[in-house]
Amino acid sequence: MQYLSSTLARAAFALALIAANAPAHSQPAPADAPYPGTITLQVDATDLDRRIFRVRETLPVSPGPLRLYYPRWLPGNHAPTGRITEFDGLKISAAGQPIAWRRDPLDVYAFTLEVPAGVSTLDLDFQQLSPLDADGGGRVVVTPEMLNLQWNAVLLYPAGHFDSRITVRPSLRLPAGWSFGSALEAATRDGASVVFKPVSVETLIDSPVFAGKHFARVDLDPDAAPNGRAPAFLDLVADTSGELAITPGQLAVHRALVTQADRLFGARHYAHYDFLLAISDQLGGIGLEHHQSSENSAEPGYFADWDKSSVDRDQLAHEFAHSWNGKYRRPADLWTPNTNTPMQNSLLWMYEGQTQFWGYVLAARSGLVPKNDMLDTLANTAAWIDAQSGRAWRNLQDTTNQAVMGERHEGRDWLDWQRGSSDYYEEMVLVWLEADMLIRDASGGQRSLDDFARAFFGPQPGRTDADIAPLTYTFDIVVAALNRVQPYDWARFLRERLDTHAPGAPLNGLQRSGWRLAWSEEPNSFSKGFAAKRKYEDFSYSVGFDVGKDNRLTGVRWGSPAFDAGLSNAVQLIAVDGLAYKAERLKGAIGAAKTSKAPIRLLVKDGDHYKTVSLAYSAGLRYPKLERIDGTEDRLTPLLSPRP
Ligand SMILES: [Zn+2]
Repeated sequence: MQYLSSTLARAAFALALIAANAPAHSQPAPADAPYPGTITLQVDATDLDRRIFRVRETLPVSPGPLRLYYPRWLPGNHAPTGRITEFDGLKISAAGQPIAWRRDPLDVYAFTLEVPAGVSTLDLDFQQLSPLDADGGGRVVVTPEMLNLQWNAVLLYPAGHFDSRITVRPSLRLPAGWSFGSALEAATRDGASVVFKPVSVETLIDSPVFAGKHFARVDLDPDAAPNGRAPAFLDLVADTSGELAITPGQLAVHRALVTQADRLFGARHYAHYDFLLAISDQLGGIGLEHHQSSENSAEPGYFADWDKSSVDRDQLAHEFAHSWNGKYRRPADLWTPNTNTPMQNSLLWMYEGQTQFWGYVLAARSGLVPKNDMLDTLANTAAWIDAQSGRAWRNLQDTTNQAVMGERHEGRDWLDWQRGSSDYYEEMVLVWLEADMLIRDASGGQRSLDDFARAFFGPQPGRTDADIAPLTYTFDIVVAALNRVQPYDWARFLRERLDTHAPGAPLNGLQRSGWRLAWSEEPNSFSKGFAAKRKYEDFSYSVGFDVGKDNRLTGVRWGSPAFDAGLSNAVQLIAVDGLAYKAERLKGAIGAAKTSKAPIRLLVKDGDHYKTVSLAYSAGLRYPKLERIDGTEDRLTPLLSPRP
């Protein structure tokens, strides 16, 4: 999954871990043995008016007790985020006779029933009532122009087997005239109805569908077949057909992403890869990795307003890198036999952290994100991580529990003090940069973290690329692989950075690359574009807040001048020094206070209460940037440059 940068991230999951270990009676231990027969799963996705997916599932069974699961622990979410509240209308029958079911009160994702003697097939009917709009908190997955079908939301599967050993034949009925993209392969097509080739439950959940009225499939490696390479495609859906137009230059950088990933990882472990990309401000935002595809979203203007869309463009690189780090290889405690077994996230600093690092690097090497925008991004990362006041109480390792505690921003008004997911993504970018520089120094420039990527994520002994089951890794396996690239005390290197409470960001890697975090009175150009897109004004590194929708404060920083003046995200900013708030007026007041040293007076509204506060702050506007360290070699530019 992609952490949607900065303090205004979109995703909001709020589910708690109910039981780390389900009671023994609740689930027969899943067996690595085939489930007899093939499940058929028919999904009707034509009800665009009501945004309802209607499902008919046929399940081969034997008489006796049966436990069915609705998927709960979703891969890539690292959390129990299954959409159980959208799962409704369940009716179970056999040869037309209804069969009673009961929900497990200790696990509301589980349904139990008794299959009568003589019954060998169950018919299940139910719906996914997908969100009608974003106001209810759920993610919108159907619009009049497109839909995003996630099979986990329209599936019940039997307990007792690895989900890799349960076979499903899925089919999908789409609105007339629509096309689709998916990692699934069609067996037969009849207009807008498609029957897919049978797959395991594991692969099905890992193979969502983007479909739409406006659709294009762009070949990212036209020479793949003649050269024996697995093909890769960019499958686009958009709010309007005009959003699909791609220029030769834009096509070239997307193709370069595939080529640069080849050069980094040294193998394609997929039979074919489909980047699913929705260009929409109607569909809910998403960035979710899969083995042979990824779900991505960008705002309108992705191609049409290319110069302003680079803020959305490292996402494809991030999700693509997950095909290697997360799918081909996966942390051992994140692998589970089925999606109703709890996952553990102790290695997310590797799963997400190193993916974020390679996502940035590949985005720059491919040209998807211009180098200067990537330098600005790294400046923002360094500044944000350096300002995490919460490192005083919470170490980086503990932040890997955040996904299970409840993603990501609900009830999280003091993000820099609370810390969370951004840290195991962004702080680890700085740590992996340091590892890269260490390897370069120790090997006299002969090796780098690229060599680790190739060794760790490239072809592994005894495995074929068609082998979908992930090869798992542990802390010790990561350390051993680093040591094979460059002998060093990697265990201590990592544990120090994961477990301690040192103040400030780990900026050694940046420094060794010949750059340092510096400050400017003007936002860097990437930040300007980002803030404009997300519609907020950034004063976080000066007075200590952002100003968002309706002039409400967001992201008030712990211990900042704003915090000391009693401000929080509860208030709306009304006036600055007696004049109605405008961003330019606050910037002017912060600038004037540099010389006057007088406090800045703000009028704020908290519910029905108005109050005036004084900000004691005279250090001027501050925005992060990267600056070259004089007399040193620039080693960041080579890292971000394309591999020949
Ligand atoms: Zn990710």
